[in-house]
Order: sequence, then structure tokens, then C-alpha cells
Amino acid sequence: MAPRFAVPEGWSLQAFSFALDPSPELLQVLARQFGGRRKAFNWAVRQAKDGIEAYHVGLAEPDAAPPSFYGLRQRWNQAKDGECVDHETGEVWWPEISKEAFADGIRGAVDAYWRWQKSRKGAIEGRRVGFPRFKRKGRDDDRFTITTGTMRVNPDRRSVSLPKAGTVRTCENTRRLERLITLGRARILAVTVRRRGTRIFAIFRVLVSRRPAAPAQPESVVGVDVGVRRLATVAAADGTVLQVANNPRALDHELGELRRACRARSRRKPGSIRYKEANRQITRLHRRIADVRTDAISKLTTALAKTHGTVVVETLNAAGMLRQKGLPGARSRRRRLADAGLAQVRARLRYKQAWYGYRLVEADRFYPSSQICSKCDMQTAIGWAEEWDCPGCAAHHHRDENAAVNLARYPDSGWQAVGPVGSRVKRRAGGKTGPRPARGVEAPNPNPERGAA
Ligand SMILES: [Zn+2]
Repeated sequence: MAPRFAVPEGWSLQAFSFALDPSPELLQVLARQFGGRRKAFNWAVRQAKDGIEAYHVGLAEPDAAPPSFYGLRQRWNQAKDGECVDHETGEVWWPEISKEAFADGIRGAVDAYWRWQKSRKGAIEGRRVGFPRFKRKGRDDDRFTITTGTMRVNPDRRSVSLPKAGTVRTCENTRRLERLITLGRARILAVTVRRRGTRIFAIFRVLVSRRPAAPAQPESVVGVDVGVRRLATVAAADGTVLQVANNPRALDHELGELRRACRARSRRKPGSIRYKEANRQITRLHRRIADVRTDAISKLTTALAKTHGTVVVETLNAAGMLRQKGLPGARSRRRRLADAGLAQVRARLRYKQAWYGYRLVEADRFYPSSQICSKCDMQTAIGWAEEWDCPGCAAHHHRDENAAVNLARYPDSGWQAVGPVGSRVKRRAGGKTGPRPARGVEAPNPNPERGAA
């Protein structure tokens, strides 16, 4: 596998992603690069497979080397005249493909081969990795990565330059990256071009020089609750709610559209043209929903990181609550959105620590931030209620606001990271809690046979 790149002191790695707006001709050129990467990947997997078979039947030459990126790339350069031939026209098509796209395919196959080898020997953790599979158009992610050659963000801030394709317009302004490059504060290491749904993105991996920063209020400690109905609630330990970040308005609209699209698909015959059309529409909507939320989450976390000295978040949205399988339609969808939102918030807050010099605290996963009364500390099982009254002190609480206050208090709460005695929580290797059956706090599903949509 490629050695890990060492980031120099004072610099950090960052990705900048721009949606591309290629003309139909350029789209063709990019699609050919995706295909070229796949071709080289499959060829390299075939080489590895043949090597193993030769070994098993005793035909391998004694000095046969195991698959390596450099070795295979050299062999590819000799083989490509024979491999890249159009069956109908007899035309040799490899000159249309960037050699970097081919190299990326070979690198991918070699990495996958060695991951398989290591997994076989038990040298890497996690699930067993299988032998690399051949990639097929439609089943494989359309993408390629280049690390040398043409990869520029142009001074007009409206286009990027890529190998073979040349200048490609971007959908949005590239100012945020172009400015850093002009100032000498950023260096492009690699570009990945990738199709997501119906759109194509150029993702620049960039080395950015960062001046040490300090949050505006270094003493401030805040808790952030990432919610279902609201995107996030920010509160301080003294009980003040500092910020309520509502879900982007576009989201409700898109969720409605999604519901309609899913219903439309269910009326169509699987495999039919109209079914596929509905599928494309659903893919597009999912993408759109994810984009809207990601944008809101990026802005929220940057603001938090620049302002406060300490930010506390939950480890899992399900902490102290149940994760349920088989929630009815809309609710299960929102549940999943909230979980995904929390994961995104946490990931962003983590890496932004190095940029802005604040501290991120992740509360223990058994800390029942939403169940503790922030007035009298009594713990109550509140289920899904959005608002509730404390049976101890009769205080009226908004679920998310109360949870955010408790999270802000977490660092000083002396909470011990121990699970409740006799809890039904299974500890798994990944440290995550899987879906568990409902335990009665949720209102019974009036229509159980319908299940989750
Ligand atoms: Zn109370």
C-alpha cells in the first residue's frame, strides 16, 4: 500500500469539493476516464488472479514478484495496445485516457489485493476482506484520482483544469480555494473526479497552511444537541439557550417530494423504464437532502469552533434512548437523518479542533442528556416527547434545549463512563450500539404490518 503522506508542521490536509458543469462533450471525455480506470483495475485484478492460479498449479516462475503498483504499471504500458481495442472498429482507444486514470485503477487493485492478503493473515481488524472483485459499469463508483499532471483551479474562479478534459466549468465559484493558492497558502496534492447521482464533482486534496487560531470566547463551554425536529440546539451550562439552528427550510420541502417519489415508485413495475426513472428521481432527492443538511452542518460547526473554548456533543444520538428497528415511515426516516446529522457534526467538530484551537468533548454514550432535568437532576424516561414536565420539580422542558444544557454541564458532572447495571446493551467490537427491539416507551405502532418505509 502507498505510504501515508506526512503532513508538515503548520499545515493541514483539507478537501475542497466543487460540482462541475461540463458540456456534453466534456462529460463524454470524463466518462471515458471513469471507464479507463475500471479497465486498468480489472486488468490488474486479472493479473493477480492469474498469478495465484499459476502458483497453485506449479507453473509460477520462481522469481515471480507479488503484485506491485510499479511492476503492474510497467506491464500495463506494454499490454494496453492489446487491451484497449474497440471490438467493432479495431481502434486503439488508450490515448484518450489519462495515464493517471489508468494508474489509479492499478493502484486501487494493488491496494485491494494487499488488503485481502493482510486480512487473510489477520493483520487488519474488522470484517474479513475478500479478493478484489471485477468492477462493472453501473455497479462501480464512477471516479478517478490523479496526483500529477494537470490539476488546477483557474484564476477566473469559475473553472478547473483536468487532464484530457482541459478546462471544465464549475457550478460554483472556486474562490475559497483559488485565493489560498494565489496567496501561497495552499498546495494541491490530488484531485478526484467522481460522479454522485447525476452530478460530477472535482474534489481537491489540498495542503493548507493555517495560522494558529484561538476561539473568540476561550472560557465558554457549550453543549450541542443534534435533533430530529431541529438541526441543533446550543446551550450553556447556566441554562441559557444560545442558538437554535432550525432544519433548513428546503429540507421539509424535499422530504415531502421524497415521500411522493417513493410512493410513485411503489406503483411501478420493478425493472421497467418508468421504475428506473422514479429511482433516478429518488437518488437525486436523497442527494439534495444530504447536500442541504451538509451545508447547514458545515456552517454551524465552523461558527461553534470559532467561538467557544469547549464544545460538548453526544457520542450517539441513541445515548440513553432506544434505537428502534421498524419505526413507521416518516419517523424512521427522520430518525436516520438525525443520526447521520450527529455523525457529521461530530466528524466536523473533530477535525476543526486542529484548525481553531478549541476542545471537543464527546459525552459518554450512557450519559442520559435528554432524560436529566436540568433544574433538579432527576432522571425520567421521556420517550419521544418534544416537551415534558419534570415529575420532581414540575419544571417544563423542551427536550432539545434541556439536553443541550445537560451536555454543557457534562465536563463538570463527574459522570462515570459505566453502563447501567443489567442493561440490555450489547457491547460490540466497534463500540457501537446496534438496533434493538422496542421496549415500551414508544407508542405502539397502530399498523405493524406496514413496517418501516
Ligand atoms: Zn426537575
